[in-house]
Amino acid sequence: MAQEVRGVIAPGKNEPVRVETIVVPDPGPGEAVVQIQACGVCHTDLHYKQGGISDDFPFLLGHEAAGIVESVGEGVTDVAPGDFVILNWRAVCGRCRACLRGRPWYCFDTHNAKQKMTLAATGQELSPALGIGAFAEKTLVAAGQCTKVDPSVSPAVAGLLGCGVMAGIGAAINTGNVGRGDSVAVIGCGGVGDAAIAGSHLAGAAKVIAVDLDDRKLQTAREMGATHTVNSKETDPVEAIRELTGGFGADVVIDAVGRPETYKQAFYARDLAGTVVLVGVPTPEMKLELPLLDVFGRGGALKSSWYGDCLPSRDFPMLIDLHLQGRLDLQKFVTETIALDEVENAFERMHQGDVLRSVVVL
Ligand SMILES: [Zn+2]
Ligand SMILES: [Zn+2]
Repeated sequence: MAQEVRGVIAPGKNEPVRVETIVVPDPGPGEAVVQIQACGVCHTDLHYKQGGISDDFPFLLGHEAAGIVESVGEGVTDVAPGDFVILNWRAVCGRCRACLRGRPWYCFDTHNAKQKMTLAATGQELSPALGIGAFAEKTLVAAGQCTKVDPSVSPAVAGLLGCGVMAGIGAAINTGNVGRGDSVAVIGCGGVGDAAIAGSHLAGAAKVIAVDLDDRKLQTAREMGATHTVNSKETDPVEAIRELTGGFGADVVIDAVGRPETYKQAFYARDLAGTVVLVGVPTPEMKLELPLLDVFGRGGALKSSWYGDCLPSRDFPMLIDLHLQGRLDLQKFVTETIALDEVENAFERMHQGDVLRSVVVL
């Protein structure tokens, strides 16, 4: 039987979000219904509301979530009712050319639930944010979007791994391949940048340099594991990073902002043969200009990090285990917990830079 639950809807471009009754169908083949326990508020949800991602309104927002599998459809074997799971937005297909070459974190054919959730009042189909839609008491996803983790972790903490925190940690440990003794610089210290700092610290980086315009954010970056901070409003970040690394530049520089200016800083602030990782998401009008001779002459690797190049089935349980062992403090990312009807206010606080993550707890 389809169920009616409450969910946070973005009804139209720049209209305030609101709680509405939505209809969640029973899971079909390969699908699962998940009872959501917690879901973080991410910039991407705000971009959906602003019409920056697509025009497929109404959206069911929320995508950094954890909860309990309530029911599964035909053919689902990896998860069962009662499992505690983190939702991911890249359920790998296992059959595309990336998957078949043993690189499933690049999967080119990730999937979501086939059935649609709808608005109870009008029957209108909903577009779930990143194929998840988890600012809701329950949501329908592809079973592959559910990754089982140790249930002793707090749901508010676990859910954050589903998006921004994983993107940042993965940018450091998967894409950037940060290792013991490396020097790392991270430009932009919001949720993703802080996670890149925490990931670099976890991987054993000897030096982790945090760069931001806001001293409050640099303070938080220190708590996440930054060994040095640079306020790029006052100091040229390229010179500062070079100075802190014996005049050479960092082994890995992570651009967690995603603008041409910050990318250029990252490009020139790395050591010869170093690595640049772009994890901040640019907008369509942005263009990059660099002397091609510098690209050649400085060598190394210029990489982009999709979702931290994560493989949820490999990375989520590992990172939760490290958190539970006290080696990766994910609790620091949870600034506040809020109710389902407070998402609109949380967008405001996020926009002001007052919070790292507000997390809706159901
Ligand atoms: Zn694939
Ligand atoms: Zn997100």
